[in-house]
Amino acid sequence: MISEHPLLSGRTCIESCDASCCYNTEMLLTPSDLLRISKKTGLKINDFSFINQDGMYQLKNIDGHCVFLDHTTKKCSIQEFKPSGCRVYPIIFDLDQGMCVIDKFCPQHHKISPETLVKYCPHTKKIIEELFKYP
Ligand code: SF4
Ligand code: SF4
Repeated sequence: MISEHPLLSGRTCIESCDASCCYNTEMLLTPSDLLRISKKTGLKINDFSFINQDGMYQLKNIDGHCVFLDHTTKKCSIQEFKPSGCRVYPIIFDLDQGMCVIDKFCPQHHKISPETLVKYCPHTKKIIEELFKYP
């Protein structure tokens, strides 16, 4: 599994933005995300995800936030095995540009160094490859 980059492992993430990226999330889930989360939580895949209009599995929101977000503490309840895309966010792969970019929606985006972007880009590309492997 991808190790988490420094931004997401620190307290600054939650303190600075109240987990903005976990509200109305559109995070896509790879086949291995689905299996891992289902196995660890005991939930059925349909309990925490749905198939979107592009035929991709996506995290469900409840009351405007990710089903796995503790709305009170702003913490992810599946931190240790959360989706690969959540581990590398705010580094994302822009399909139009064909390259890894830092999502400016994240208020801490400026803290991602060029070195971190380069380091995590291969992980981000692998996630995209896995996403297109759906049967
Ligand atoms: S939007 Fe950025 S700073 Fe906020 S929780 Fe997500 S990754 Fe962390
Ligand atoms: S799985 Fe965790 S980190 Fe990912 S969107 Fe949901 S609450 Fe946020």
